[in-house]
Amino acid sequence: MTAVSAEPAPSMPAPVDAIADVLATATAVTICCHTRPDADTIGSGLALGMALRRRGVAVQVSFPSPAQLPEPLSGLPGVDLLVAPEDVVGSDVVVTVDCASVERIGLLAEHFDAASTQIVIDHHVSNAGYGTVNLVDGESSCTAELILMVLDAMEIPLDTDLATCLYAGLVTDTGSFKWSGPQSHRTAARLLEAGVDGREWTRRLLDTHQFLWLTMVSKVLATAVLVPEAFDGAGLVYAVVDQVTAAGMSWEQAESVVDIVRTTAEAEVAAVFKETSPNRWAVSMRSKTQVDLIPVARAAGGGGHRHAAGFTSEGTVDEVVAAFVAAAV
Ligand code: MN
Repeated sequence: MTAVSAEPAPSMPAPVDAIADVLATATAVTICCHTRPDADTIGSGLALGMALRRRGVAVQVSFPSPAQLPEPLSGLPGVDLLVAPEDVVGSDVVVTVDCASVERIGLLAEHFDAASTQIVIDHHVSNAGYGTVNLVDGESSCTAELILMVLDAMEIPLDTDLATCLYAGLVTDTGSFKWSGPQSHRTAARLLEAGVDGREWTRRLLDTHQFLWLTMVSKVLATAVLVPEAFDGAGLVYAVVDQVTAAGMSWEQAESVVDIVRTTAEAEVAAVFKETSPNRWAVSMRSKTQVDLIPVARAAGGGGHRHAAGFTSEGTVDEVVAAFVAAAV
């Protein structure tokens, strides 16, 4: 696997080495994870943060919102590195992890913009490379794999804590290795050999729901609609999670509904409309093989990966759904 920069400068070392060089001499580093953090952004941020802290670097790791980390992530090693965004002091070197655009770090962008070295480590194809050093590899299954490349370049040995954080990103972003290639399995082998309890972390991160989730899912699935003519006949299935239905649910639990909806045999594309505040919607999309969701998401002001993307929208549920379906047919 090779790392690619969005704008490779011929005389510069490859981004992995350039990042390793910067981090090897830094005395303070701020690491920014994305809003509504998932296991890849937090696992990547904490692994890098723990590795740097051990070398005596002053490290702060933060994410812009919400205030609370999703419950399963709060048990990861290194969470004591996390600070609230308003408590971030900033530093000459600022790193974003798993953030396709600077908007993903919200108010932390103030610190990113002020940094003399802006490091971007990410695997989203839509990432244009908004830092001064960009390790952006759309072929990588997760940002955690790219962090491991940086740790290797810095000759930082893996231990159970670092490996656990990286494994959290790897196992979730590959859907428990459902859509991963040989490199991801090689990475998994290294991480498991370093002592990760794979069974325990897979269960915590992917196979655990509140009882309330069962009730929520049954209501949401009852709203599912199949649009066979959408996407040139490839088919669309969508469902709606409004605020009433999602009441009492953590957002990441509500988010996981798309993983059930997308199993529909008759639809190439699945979408879940989730109401984040009254008449504001976060739309998660998944495709199976032929439909590239990146242009679909971008046309609506969002972004993501070829087979997993999203955007936000405003309006009544009928308006937002109708606009999306009209664009898809
Ligand atoms: Mn990721």
